[in-house]
Amino acid sequence: MAIAHLAKSFGGHAVLKDVSLTVPAGGVVALIGPSGSGKSTLLRCINLLVVPDAGEVRVGGDAFRFGPGARLPGTKALARFRAGTGMVFQHFNLFPHLTALQNVMEGPVTVRRRPKAEAEAQGRALLAKVGLADKAEQYPSRLSGGQKQRVAIARALAMEPDVMLFDEATSALDPELVGEVLGVMRALAADGMTMVIVTHEIAFAREVADRVVFLRDGVVVEEGPARSLIDAPRHPDTRAFLAHFH
Ligand code: ATP
Ligand code: MG
Repeated sequence: MAIAHLAKSFGGHAVLKDVSLTVPAGGVVALIGPSGSGKSTLLRCINLLVVPDAGEVRVGGDAFRFGPGARLPGTKALARFRAGTGMVFQHFNLFPHLTALQNVMEGPVTVRRRPKAEAEAQGRALLAKVGLADKAEQYPSRLSGGQKQRVAIARALAMEPDVMLFDEATSALDPELVGEVLGVMRALAADGMTMVIVTHEIAFAREVADRVVFLRDGVVVEEGPARSLIDAPRHPDTRAFLAHFH
């Protein structure tokens, strides 16, 4: 997965300025930075929930260019593309009227037109993978925050994405529920999933990510191998930011 020279403004406010980032297949990148630095906007540009003003986005076999003269992708191409990028948000966004299993089956059945039996078998296997085999028939209102977030991860995985994008997936959880979600993310990374993780869990980023990118004011200030960037940041702004976590 790669983005190149990405730019995005909202009403004259440049939120992303010439951001480039490459994640090799199976690679894990953690995106850190202060509030308002553009982390969520960057993730949303990677799956084209937000349409960039300029630059290039490549995921799997798809490549889109933006900017003067570029032709915007059509609705169908966009939908197909988004289905191949699994996004997990801070708030779980599960369908409340569907069970855990039905939530996981929804995309494959309605978007991919998979036979129900096949989608159900896959859904049960994915729920087992995130430790929720016994919760398949539960409605979201009966699940804890950590369980809901694990269903959300299983639901994203059901679309067999080329990349998984996590936007502060544990920020809304009670502290005692954070570990179970990080555990699932750790297992996915070990499994070879390509991942971009926006997180304030610096110790987790250091342990699980190959590389860390520090974003500030829409600019990549510093990027490098996770351990060296976190243990020995070079840029004074990265140092100042990381000092908050000690
Ligand atoms: P946080 O850590 O608080 O989640 P962030 O790094 O994810 O912050 P973004 O959500 O990407 O930051 O926002 C970056 C800037 O872009 C902010 O100033 C925000 O107000 C602005 N912004 C984001 N989305 C929009 C939008 N749809 N319309 C207008 N401004 C927006
Ligand atoms: Mg954000």
